[in-house]
Amino acid sequence: MSQFIYAAALLSAGKSIIDPLLVVTGDSIAWVGEAQDPHAPAPGQDDTVTRLDGHILIPGLVNGHTHSAMTLLRGVSDDHGFMPWLAEVQALEQQLTHDDIAAGLQLAMLEMIESGTTSFNDMYVWDAQLLELVRDAGMRVVAALAITRPEQIMFPGVTTKTGRDELAHAVELQRRYAADPQIKIAYGPHAPYSVPREFFAETIEHAKRTGIPVHTHIAESPAETEMVVAETGKRPARYLRELGLYETSAMAAHCVHLDDEEIAEMAASGVALSHCPVSNLKLGNGVARLLDWLQSGVRISLGTDSVASNNTLDLFEELKLATILHRGVLHDAAAITAEQVFEIATRAGAEAIGFGDCGELAVGKKADIVALKTSEANAVPHANLLSHVVFAASGKDVDYVWIGGRAVYAAGEHLTLDATAVKQRAAESAARIRVAAKL
Ligand SMILES: [Zn+2]
Repeated sequence: MSQFIYAAALLSAGKSIIDPLLVVTGDSIAWVGEAQDPHAPAPGQDDTVTRLDGHILIPGLVNGHTHSAMTLLRGVSDDHGFMPWLAEVQALEQQLTHDDIAAGLQLAMLEMIESGTTSFNDMYVWDAQLLELVRDAGMRVVAALAITRPEQIMFPGVTTKTGRDELAHAVELQRRYAADPQIKIAYGPHAPYSVPREFFAETIEHAKRTGIPVHTHIAESPAETEMVVAETGKRPARYLRELGLYETSAMAAHCVHLDDEEIAEMAASGVALSHCPVSNLKLGNGVARLLDWLQSGVRISLGTDSVASNNTLDLFEELKLATILHRGVLHDAAAITAEQVFEIATRAGAEAIGFGDCGELAVGKKADIVALKTSEANAVPHANLLSHVVFAASGKDVDYVWIGGRAVYAAGEHLTLDATAVKQRAAESAARIRVAAKL
C-alpha cells in the first residue's frame, strides 16, 4: 500500500516541479516527478490518493537548535542582554516540574508541526517518558541531555540526576532508541563558560568512547569570549578544540564570534554549526559570519534557539532573516541566496544534525513532507517557488505535514496532538512557574 500525493508544485534541494506526484511507500519516498510523466506510477486499489489543489510541497524543515520545553518561558526577560536574560530564565527553570517539561515539550511540538518543522536538534532535560511524547507526536528529535556541573542537578523539580548521572543516562537512552528512526541521543554540555573544564573533558571522553554526539553552545556572546579568555587564556572555540571536542561528532550552536582560523578548523573537523539569527539579534549578541561559513564548507543548520529568545519556533522567519540579514551587513544583495538558506533549512540541516536520510523530497529519503497552501493573499502571485517559500511564506501557510509517511497535520488540524489540551496545559504551567519564582 502506497500514498499518492498530487499537488500544484514541489520545491526541494535545487529542483522544482509543477504538477508533481509524490509516492510514499512505508516511511520513505518511492517515486517523485511530474504527474504527467509517462513513467509515473498509477495508484492501485490498495493505495490512498491525496489531491492538494494549489499546494506547494517542500521537505519538512529542520530546526538545528532548540530548547523545546522553554516554550513556557515565551516573553520572559524580553529586553535584557544575554547574561541578565540567562539569570532570569534559570530562576524560572528551577520551578519546573516533570509535568511542566512535558507540557512545554508538547507545546513546542504543536508549534513546530503547524509551522512545518519535522525534525529538531534539542538541548534540555530528557528521559524515556519525554522521548515517548516525541514518538507519539510523530516528530524526529536529537535529544541532548543538558548538563553543567558534575554534581549539579540542573532541574531539581524534574529529575534527581546529577550532571554525571546524565552521562550514563545518555548511554542508556542511546541503547534503548538505537533502532528508532525518530530518536537520536546526544550529550548536552551547556557551554564553555558554564561547564567546568574537567567535566567538559570527561564528557568529551565519554563521547569519543560511545560515539554519541555532543551538542553545545559556542561563542554566542561577546561576554562569553571575555569570560573564557579570562579563565583559560583562550577564545571559546579554540579552548574546546584543545579539550578534544572536535574529535567527537560535535554540534555547536550560535558561533557568532569566530575568527577565520576557528571557522577553518571547524570546517576541517566536520563540526556542525547552527545559525540562529533571530536569537542572536534579539539578545544583542551580534551577527554570525554566515557567508564565511558557507565559503569554508562547514556543515550548517538553521535554528530558532529557545522560544525565550526568539519568541516563536517558526523557521520561516529564520529562513527569510538568514538570507537578508547578511545582505544588509555586507551591503551586497547577492551575498547569500534564497537557495543557499533553503538548503540549510532542509537537506544540509538534516545532514548536519544526523538525519541524513531526511530533508529532501527524493527517492529513498524519509517521507518528511510539508504542504503549503497558496490560497492567502501573500501567495499571489507565486510563480517563483523559491522566492515565495523563503521571502513571502510563513508558518501560517502550512496546511499538511507528514513525517516518515505518517500524516501528523492535515487541513490545518493536528492528528497526533490534542491542540486545545496542549495549549491549556502549557498556559497553566507557565502561569504557575511565574508565581512560584515570584516574577
Ligand atoms: Zn541555545
